[in-house]
Amino acid sequence: MTAQAIFNIFIFLLIMEQVFETVLSVINLNYAKNNAAKLPKELQGIYEDQEMKKSLDYSHAKTCFSIFSSFYSLIFLLIFLFSNTFLDIDLWLKAYGFRQLFHGTIYLLLIVAIFSLLGIPLSYYSTFIIEEKFGFNKSTRLQWVKDQLTSLILSFIITGPVIYFLLYIMQSFSGYWWLLAACFIAMVQIFLAFIFPVWIAPLFNKFTPLEESELKEEILKMVSSQGFLASGVYKVDGSRRSRHANAYFAGLGKSKRIVLYDTLINLLGVREMLAVLAHEIGHEKLGHIKKTLLFSTSLLFAGFYLMYFFSGNIEFYNAFGFKNTANYSALLIFSLLSGPLMFFVSPFFNMLSRRFEFQADKYACNAAGGSEPLTKALIALSKNSLSNINPHPLYSFIHYSHPALAERIKAMSNLETVLNSFSVK
Ligand code: ZN
Repeated sequence: MTAQAIFNIFIFLLIMEQVFETVLSVINLNYAKNNAAKLPKELQGIYEDQEMKKSLDYSHAKTCFSIFSSFYSLIFLLIFLFSNTFLDIDLWLKAYGFRQLFHGTIYLLLIVAIFSLLGIPLSYYSTFIIEEKFGFNKSTRLQWVKDQLTSLILSFIITGPVIYFLLYIMQSFSGYWWLLAACFIAMVQIFLAFIFPVWIAPLFNKFTPLEESELKEEILKMVSSQGFLASGVYKVDGSRRSRHANAYFAGLGKSKRIVLYDTLINLLGVREMLAVLAHEIGHEKLGHIKKTLLFSTSLLFAGFYLMYFFSGNIEFYNAFGFKNTANYSALLIFSLLSGPLMFFVSPFFNMLSRRFEFQADKYACNAAGGSEPLTKALIALSKNSLSNINPHPLYSFIHYSHPALAERIKAMSNLETVLNSFSVK
Protein backbone atom coordinates (compact mmCIF):
# COMPACT_ATOMS: atom_id res chain seq x y z
CA MET A 1 0.00 0.00 0.00
CA THR A 2 1.33 3.46 -0.81
CA ALA A 3 1.88 6.14 1.81
CA GLN A 4 -0.89 8.24 0.27
CA ALA A 5 -3.39 5.35 0.47
CA ILE A 6 -2.54 4.69 4.13
CA PHE A 7 -2.93 8.38 4.94
CA ASN A 8 -6.28 8.58 3.10
CA ILE A 9 -7.67 5.50 4.88
CA PHE A 10 -6.61 6.92 8.25
CA ILE A 11 -8.25 10.30 7.60
CA PHE A 12 -11.38 8.57 6.29
CA LEU A 13 -11.63 6.43 9.46
CA LEU A 14 -11.13 9.47 11.72
CA ILE A 15 -13.89 11.42 9.98
CA MET A 16 -16.26 8.44 9.78
CA GLU A 17 -15.84 7.85 13.51
CA GLN A 18 -16.52 11.53 14.21
CA VAL A 19 -19.69 11.56 12.09
CA PHE A 20 -20.94 8.29 13.57
CA GLU A 21 -20.35 9.41 17.17
CA THR A 22 -21.97 12.79 16.62
CA VAL A 23 -25.10 11.32 15.02
CA LEU A 24 -25.35 8.63 17.72
CA SER A 25 -25.02 11.20 20.54
CA VAL A 26 -27.79 13.34 19.05
CA ILE A 27 -30.05 10.29 18.58
CA ASN A 28 -29.37 9.30 22.19
CA LEU A 29 -30.23 12.74 23.55
CA ASN A 30 -33.42 13.03 21.49
CA TYR A 31 -34.47 9.54 22.55
CA ALA A 32 -34.20 10.50 26.24
CA LYS A 33 -36.10 13.76 25.66
CA ASN A 34 -38.88 12.22 23.56
CA ASN A 35 -39.47 9.32 25.94
CA ALA A 36 -39.27 11.27 29.21
CA ALA A 37 -43.05 11.00 29.64
CA LYS A 38 -43.32 7.30 28.75
CA LEU A 39 -40.52 5.56 30.62
CA PRO A 40 -40.26 1.76 30.95
CA LYS A 41 -42.02 0.62 34.14
CA GLU A 42 -38.71 -0.03 36.01
CA LEU A 43 -37.87 3.68 35.73
CA GLN A 44 -41.23 5.23 36.54
CA GLY A 45 -41.28 7.43 39.61
CA ILE A 46 -37.49 7.63 40.00
CA TYR A 47 -37.30 11.27 38.97
CA GLU A 48 -39.81 13.95 39.95
CA ASP A 49 -40.78 16.17 36.99
CA GLN A 50 -38.34 18.86 38.07
CA GLU A 51 -35.47 16.35 38.49
CA MET A 52 -36.25 14.81 35.11
CA LYS A 53 -35.96 18.20 33.50
CA LYS A 54 -32.67 18.88 35.27
CA SER A 55 -31.29 15.48 34.26
CA LEU A 56 -32.23 16.10 30.60
CA ASP A 57 -30.66 19.56 30.71
CA TYR A 58 -27.48 18.05 32.15
CA SER A 59 -27.40 15.35 29.43
CA HIS A 60 -27.96 18.07 26.84
CA ALA A 61 -25.06 20.16 28.14
CA LYS A 62 -22.72 17.17 28.38
CA THR A 63 -23.65 15.89 24.90
CA CYS A 64 -23.02 19.29 23.28
CA PHE A 65 -19.74 19.57 25.14
CA SER A 66 -18.52 16.11 24.15
CA ILE A 67 -19.39 16.75 20.49
CA PHE A 68 -17.51 20.06 20.64
CA SER A 69 -14.50 18.45 22.41
CA SER A 70 -14.15 15.69 19.87
CA PHE A 71 -14.34 18.18 16.96
CA TYR A 72 -11.76 20.35 18.73
CA SER A 73 -9.34 17.43 19.16
CA LEU A 74 -9.94 16.20 15.61
CA ILE A 75 -9.24 19.62 14.11
CA PHE A 76 -5.92 19.96 15.96
CA LEU A 77 -4.92 16.45 14.90
CA LEU A 78 -5.78 17.22 11.25
CA ILE A 79 -3.79 20.48 11.40
CA PHE A 80 -0.80 18.54 12.75
CA LEU A 81 -1.13 15.87 10.05
CA PHE A 82 -1.72 18.13 7.04
CA SER A 83 0.98 20.66 7.99
CA ASN A 84 3.56 17.96 8.82
CA THR A 85 3.99 19.40 12.33
CA PHE A 86 5.00 16.00 13.77
CA LEU A 87 8.04 16.01 11.45
CA ASP A 88 8.81 19.70 12.03
CA ILE A 89 9.02 19.16 15.81
CA ASP A 90 11.30 16.16 15.20
CA LEU A 91 13.65 18.22 12.98
CA TRP A 92 13.64 21.14 15.42
CA LEU A 93 14.58 18.82 18.30
CA LYS A 94 17.34 17.12 16.26
CA ALA A 95 19.23 20.42 16.23
CA TYR A 96 19.92 19.87 19.96
CA GLY A 97 21.86 16.69 19.13
CA PHE A 98 20.56 14.37 21.87
CA ARG A 99 21.49 10.69 21.70
CA GLN A 100 18.94 8.51 19.85
CA LEU A 101 17.11 7.11 22.91
CA PHE A 102 16.97 10.48 24.66
CA HIS A 103 15.87 12.20 21.47
CA GLY A 104 13.00 9.72 21.03
CA THR A 105 11.90 10.02 24.66
CA ILE A 106 11.97 13.83 24.69
CA TYR A 107 10.19 13.97 21.33
CA LEU A 108 7.31 11.76 22.51
CA LEU A 109 7.05 13.61 25.85
CA LEU A 110 6.83 16.88 23.92
CA ILE A 111 3.95 15.55 21.82
CA VAL A 112 2.19 14.32 25.00
CA ALA A 113 2.75 17.76 26.60
CA ILE A 114 1.37 19.64 23.57
CA PHE A 115 -1.81 17.56 23.44
CA SER A 116 -2.24 17.79 27.24
CA LEU A 117 -1.96 21.59 27.04
CA LEU A 118 -4.54 21.67 24.25
CA GLY A 119 -6.89 19.72 26.52
CA ILE A 120 -6.66 22.19 29.43
CA PRO A 121 -9.32 24.67 28.20
CA LEU A 122 -11.72 21.73 27.80
CA SER A 123 -11.09 20.56 31.35
CA TYR A 124 -11.63 24.11 32.63
CA TYR A 125 -14.92 24.48 30.78
CA SER A 126 -16.17 21.10 31.93
CA THR A 127 -15.37 21.80 35.61
CA PHE A 128 -16.24 25.48 36.00
CA ILE A 129 -19.05 25.90 33.49
CA ILE A 130 -20.94 22.60 33.15
CA GLU A 131 -20.31 20.86 36.48
CA GLU A 132 -20.62 24.22 38.25
CA LYS A 133 -23.96 25.04 36.64
CA PHE A 134 -25.49 21.75 37.78
CA GLY A 135 -24.10 22.04 41.31
CA PHE A 136 -21.53 19.24 41.06
CA ASN A 137 -18.32 21.23 41.18
CA LYS A 138 -16.84 21.89 44.61
CA SER A 139 -13.30 22.59 43.39
CA THR A 140 -11.76 26.06 43.60
CA ARG A 141 -9.69 27.50 40.75
CA LEU A 142 -6.52 27.20 42.85
CA GLN A 143 -7.29 23.55 43.58
CA TRP A 144 -7.92 22.93 39.89
CA VAL A 145 -4.58 24.52 38.85
CA LYS A 146 -2.79 22.40 41.48
CA ASP A 147 -4.53 19.26 40.15
CA GLN A 148 -3.57 20.03 36.55
CA LEU A 149 0.08 20.63 37.48
CA THR A 150 0.29 17.53 39.67
CA SER A 151 -1.18 15.33 36.89
CA LEU A 152 1.16 16.80 34.29
CA ILE A 153 4.29 16.34 36.44
CA LEU A 154 3.17 12.85 37.47
CA SER A 155 2.54 11.81 33.87
CA PHE A 156 6.05 13.01 32.93
CA ILE A 157 7.66 11.15 35.84
CA ILE A 158 5.85 7.94 34.90
CA THR A 159 5.75 8.20 31.10
CA GLY A 160 9.36 9.38 30.62
CA PRO A 161 11.15 6.26 31.93
CA VAL A 162 8.48 3.99 30.38
CA ILE A 163 9.05 5.47 26.89
CA TYR A 164 12.83 5.36 27.33
CA PHE A 165 12.81 1.68 28.30
CA LEU A 166 10.32 0.82 25.56
CA LEU A 167 12.57 2.43 22.95
CA TYR A 168 15.54 0.58 24.46
CA ILE A 169 13.70 -2.76 24.06
CA MET A 170 12.75 -1.92 20.46
CA GLN A 171 16.34 -1.04 19.63
CA SER A 172 18.00 -3.99 21.37
CA PHE A 173 15.82 -7.04 20.60
CA SER A 174 15.08 -6.82 16.91
CA GLY A 175 13.19 -10.07 16.21
CA TYR A 176 10.98 -10.28 19.29
CA TRP A 177 10.84 -6.82 20.82
CA TRP A 178 7.04 -6.80 20.51
CA LEU A 179 6.81 -9.70 22.97
CA LEU A 180 9.12 -8.05 25.52
CA ALA A 181 7.49 -4.64 25.02
CA ALA A 182 4.00 -6.06 25.71
CA CYS A 183 5.28 -7.88 28.84
CA PHE A 184 6.95 -4.68 30.01
CA ILE A 185 3.81 -2.54 29.60
CA ALA A 186 1.66 -5.21 31.27
CA MET A 187 4.07 -5.16 34.22
CA VAL A 188 3.98 -1.37 34.36
CA GLN A 189 0.17 -1.48 34.50
CA ILE A 190 0.21 -3.99 37.38
CA PHE A 191 2.86 -1.95 39.18
CA LEU A 192 0.77 1.22 38.84
CA ALA A 193 -2.28 -0.59 40.23
CA PHE A 194 -0.12 -1.47 43.26
CA ILE A 195 1.29 1.98 43.91
CA PHE A 196 -1.86 3.93 43.01
CA PRO A 197 -3.59 3.71 46.43
CA VAL A 198 -0.39 4.20 48.41
CA TRP A 199 1.50 6.89 46.50
CA ILE A 200 -0.63 8.45 43.79
CA ALA A 201 -4.20 8.82 45.14
CA PRO A 202 -2.98 10.57 48.37
CA LEU A 203 -1.42 13.32 46.22
CA PHE A 204 -4.94 14.34 45.23
CA ASN A 205 -7.09 13.41 48.22
CA LYS A 206 -6.99 12.88 51.95
CA PHE A 207 -7.60 9.31 53.10
CA THR A 208 -8.62 8.73 56.71
CA PRO A 209 -9.55 5.42 58.35
CA LEU A 210 -13.32 5.27 58.72
CA GLU A 211 -14.24 6.10 62.32
CA GLU A 212 -15.77 3.40 64.53
CA SER A 213 -19.48 3.33 63.67
CA GLU A 214 -22.33 1.01 62.87
CA LEU A 215 -21.40 1.36 59.20
CA LYS A 216 -17.81 0.23 59.78
CA GLU A 217 -18.87 -2.68 62.00
CA GLU A 218 -21.43 -3.88 59.47
CA ILE A 219 -18.94 -3.53 56.59
CA LEU A 220 -16.28 -5.61 58.35
CA LYS A 221 -18.90 -8.23 59.30
CA MET A 222 -20.23 -8.51 55.75
CA VAL A 223 -16.80 -8.52 54.15
CA SER A 224 -15.52 -11.35 56.35
CA SER A 225 -18.75 -13.34 55.90
CA GLN A 226 -18.01 -13.24 52.15
CA GLY A 227 -14.50 -14.55 52.81
CA PHE A 228 -12.88 -11.33 51.66
CA LEU A 229 -9.82 -9.89 53.35
CA ALA A 230 -9.78 -6.13 53.81
CA SER A 231 -6.71 -4.30 55.02
CA GLY A 232 -8.79 -1.35 56.19
CA VAL A 233 -11.80 0.82 55.47
CA TYR A 234 -10.94 4.35 54.39
CA LYS A 235 -12.92 7.49 53.83
CA VAL A 236 -11.77 9.85 51.09
CA ASP A 237 -12.67 13.53 50.87
CA GLY A 238 -14.20 13.38 47.37
CA SER A 239 -16.53 16.22 48.37
CA ARG A 240 -13.59 18.63 48.14
CA ARG A 241 -13.91 18.53 44.35
CA SER A 242 -17.25 17.17 43.33
CA ARG A 243 -20.67 16.00 44.49
CA HIS A 244 -20.35 12.80 42.42
CA ALA A 245 -20.10 9.69 44.64
CA ASN A 246 -18.00 6.56 44.36
CA ALA A 247 -16.50 3.55 46.16
CA TYR A 248 -13.72 1.18 45.18
CA PHE A 249 -11.31 -1.50 46.34
CA ALA A 250 -7.73 -0.45 45.96
CA GLY A 251 -4.64 -2.57 45.57
CA LEU A 252 -3.95 -6.01 44.19
CA GLY A 253 -3.52 -9.41 45.82
CA LYS A 254 -5.25 -10.92 48.79
CA SER A 255 -5.98 -7.93 50.98
CA LYS A 256 -7.33 -4.65 49.71
CA ARG A 257 -8.30 -1.28 51.02
CA ILE A 258 -11.97 -0.43 50.88
CA VAL A 259 -12.26 3.20 49.87
CA LEU A 260 -15.55 5.08 50.32
CA TYR A 261 -16.14 8.63 49.12
CA ASP A 262 -17.58 10.83 51.85
CA THR A 263 -20.22 11.80 49.30
CA LEU A 264 -21.29 8.15 49.06
CA ILE A 265 -21.45 7.75 52.86
CA ASN A 266 -23.81 10.73 53.00
CA LEU A 267 -25.92 9.41 50.13
CA LEU A 268 -26.53 5.77 51.10
CA GLY A 269 -27.90 4.02 54.16
CA VAL A 270 -25.99 1.13 55.77
CA ARG A 271 -27.86 -1.64 53.89
CA GLU A 272 -27.43 0.08 50.53
CA MET A 273 -23.73 0.65 51.18
CA LEU A 274 -23.29 -3.04 52.05
CA ALA A 275 -25.00 -4.01 48.79
CA VAL A 276 -22.67 -1.79 46.77
CA LEU A 277 -19.62 -3.32 48.48
CA ALA A 278 -21.02 -6.84 47.99
CA HIS A 279 -21.29 -6.02 44.28
CA GLU A 280 -17.59 -5.06 44.27
CA ILE A 281 -16.69 -8.25 46.18
CA GLY A 282 -18.69 -10.12 43.52
CA HIS A 283 -16.32 -8.79 40.86
CA GLU A 284 -13.38 -10.15 42.86
CA LYS A 285 -14.88 -13.51 43.73
CA LEU A 286 -16.10 -14.19 40.19
CA GLY A 287 -12.64 -13.47 38.78
CA HIS A 288 -13.76 -10.43 36.76
CA ILE A 289 -10.67 -8.40 37.60
CA LYS A 290 -8.37 -11.18 36.37
CA LYS A 291 -10.46 -11.79 33.24
CA THR A 292 -10.50 -8.09 32.35
CA LEU A 293 -6.75 -7.93 32.87
CA LEU A 294 -6.30 -11.00 30.65
CA PHE A 295 -8.45 -9.45 27.91
CA SER A 296 -6.64 -6.11 27.98
CA THR A 297 -3.24 -7.81 28.09
CA SER A 298 -4.13 -9.91 25.02
CA LEU A 299 -5.05 -6.66 23.26
CA LEU A 300 -1.69 -5.25 24.26
CA PHE A 301 0.14 -8.23 22.75
CA ALA A 302 -1.94 -8.06 19.57
CA GLY A 303 -1.32 -4.30 19.32
CA PHE A 304 2.45 -4.61 19.72
CA TYR A 305 2.55 -7.51 17.26
CA LEU A 306 0.69 -5.42 14.67
CA MET A 307 3.13 -2.61 15.26
CA TYR A 308 6.09 -4.99 14.88
CA PHE A 309 4.58 -6.40 11.69
CA PHE A 310 4.19 -3.00 10.03
CA SER A 311 7.17 -1.22 11.59
CA GLY A 312 9.59 -2.27 8.83
CA ASN A 313 7.41 -0.74 6.11
CA ILE A 314 8.66 2.73 5.17
CA GLU A 315 5.29 3.62 3.56
CA PHE A 316 3.74 3.76 7.05
CA TYR A 317 6.26 6.37 8.17
CA ASN A 318 5.96 8.34 4.94
CA ALA A 319 2.17 8.37 5.34
CA PHE A 320 2.58 10.41 8.54
CA GLY A 321 5.33 12.64 7.13
CA PHE A 322 8.38 10.84 8.57
CA LYS A 323 11.35 10.17 6.29
CA ASN A 324 12.91 7.16 8.08
CA THR A 325 11.86 4.20 10.22
CA ALA A 326 12.79 5.52 13.68
CA ASN A 327 11.30 3.57 16.60
CA TYR A 328 9.84 6.64 18.27
CA SER A 329 7.97 7.53 15.05
CA ALA A 330 6.53 3.99 15.05
CA LEU A 331 5.29 4.51 18.63
CA LEU A 332 3.69 7.82 17.70
CA ILE A 333 2.05 6.46 14.51
CA PHE A 334 0.62 3.48 16.36
CA SER A 335 -0.74 5.57 19.19
CA LEU A 336 -2.52 7.65 16.53
CA LEU A 337 -3.83 4.50 14.84
CA SER A 338 -4.99 3.05 18.16
CA GLY A 339 -7.87 5.61 18.18
CA PRO A 340 -9.72 4.18 15.17
CA LEU A 341 -8.73 0.62 16.19
CA MET A 342 -10.24 1.05 19.67
CA PHE A 343 -13.41 2.35 18.08
CA PHE A 344 -13.97 -1.17 16.75
CA VAL A 345 -12.72 -3.00 19.83
CA SER A 346 -14.31 -1.06 22.69
CA PRO A 347 -17.94 -2.22 22.06
CA PHE A 348 -16.76 -5.81 22.63
CA PHE A 349 -14.97 -4.73 25.77
CA ASN A 350 -18.14 -3.01 27.00
CA MET A 351 -20.25 -6.07 26.17
CA LEU A 352 -17.99 -8.22 28.37
CA SER A 353 -18.02 -5.59 31.11
CA ARG A 354 -21.86 -5.46 31.13
CA ARG A 355 -22.02 -9.25 31.48
CA PHE A 356 -19.74 -8.97 34.53
CA GLU A 357 -21.94 -6.22 35.99
CA PHE A 358 -25.05 -8.44 35.79
CA GLN A 359 -23.13 -11.27 37.47
CA ALA A 360 -21.84 -8.98 40.25
CA ASP A 361 -25.40 -7.65 40.81
CA LYS A 362 -26.61 -11.22 41.18
CA TYR A 363 -23.81 -11.95 43.65
CA ALA A 364 -24.72 -8.85 45.69
CA CYS A 365 -28.45 -9.76 45.76
CA ASN A 366 -27.62 -13.25 47.02
CA ALA A 367 -25.31 -11.80 49.68
CA ALA A 368 -27.94 -9.28 50.80
CA GLY A 369 -30.77 -11.85 50.69
CA GLY A 370 -32.76 -9.82 48.16
CA SER A 371 -32.61 -7.20 45.46
CA GLU A 372 -34.04 -4.25 47.39
CA PRO A 373 -30.86 -2.69 48.88
CA LEU A 374 -28.85 -2.73 45.64
CA THR A 375 -31.82 -1.48 43.60
CA LYS A 376 -32.26 1.41 46.05
CA ALA A 377 -28.53 2.16 45.95
CA LEU A 378 -28.38 2.22 42.15
CA ILE A 379 -31.39 4.52 41.98
CA ALA A 380 -29.86 6.86 44.59
CA LEU A 381 -26.57 6.94 42.66
CA SER A 382 -28.33 7.70 39.35
CA LYS A 383 -30.36 10.47 40.95
CA ASN A 384 -27.32 11.95 42.65
CA SER A 385 -25.39 12.21 39.39
CA LEU A 386 -28.45 13.29 37.33
CA SER A 387 -27.78 10.33 34.99
CA ASN A 388 -29.60 9.90 31.74
CA ILE A 389 -31.61 6.89 32.97
CA ASN A 390 -33.14 6.16 29.56
CA PRO A 391 -30.37 5.96 26.93
CA HIS A 392 -30.98 4.86 23.34
CA PRO A 393 -30.36 1.07 23.12
CA LEU A 394 -27.73 1.45 20.36
CA TYR A 395 -25.92 4.14 22.35
CA SER A 396 -25.80 2.08 25.53
CA PHE A 397 -24.83 -1.02 23.51
CA ILE A 398 -21.77 0.76 22.13
CA HIS A 399 -20.71 3.04 24.98
CA TYR A 400 -21.99 1.72 28.31
CA SER A 401 -19.59 -0.34 30.41
CA HIS A 402 -22.49 -0.87 32.84
CA PRO A 403 -25.97 -2.00 31.75
CA ALA A 404 -28.61 0.75 31.66
CA LEU A 405 -30.43 1.22 34.98
CA ALA A 406 -33.72 -0.27 33.71
CA GLU A 407 -31.97 -3.46 32.58
CA ARG A 408 -30.22 -3.87 35.92
CA ILE A 409 -33.43 -3.32 37.92
CA LYS A 410 -35.31 -5.74 35.67
CA ALA A 411 -32.62 -8.43 35.95
CA MET A 412 -32.60 -8.08 39.74
CA SER A 413 -36.37 -8.27 40.07
CA ASN A 414 -36.41 -11.42 37.90
CA LEU A 415 -33.80 -12.82 40.25
CA GLU A 416 -36.00 -11.92 43.22
CA THR A 417 -38.87 -13.94 41.68
CA VAL A 418 -36.56 -16.93 41.33
CA LEU A 419 -35.30 -16.53 44.93
CA ASN A 420 -38.90 -16.31 46.22
CA SER A 421 -40.09 -19.32 44.25
CA PHE A 422 -37.29 -21.34 45.84
CA SER A 423 -38.21 -20.25 49.35
CA VAL A 424 -41.93 -21.13 48.74
CA LYS A 425 -40.94 -24.65 47.71
ZN1 ZN B 1 -19.52 -3.32 38.94
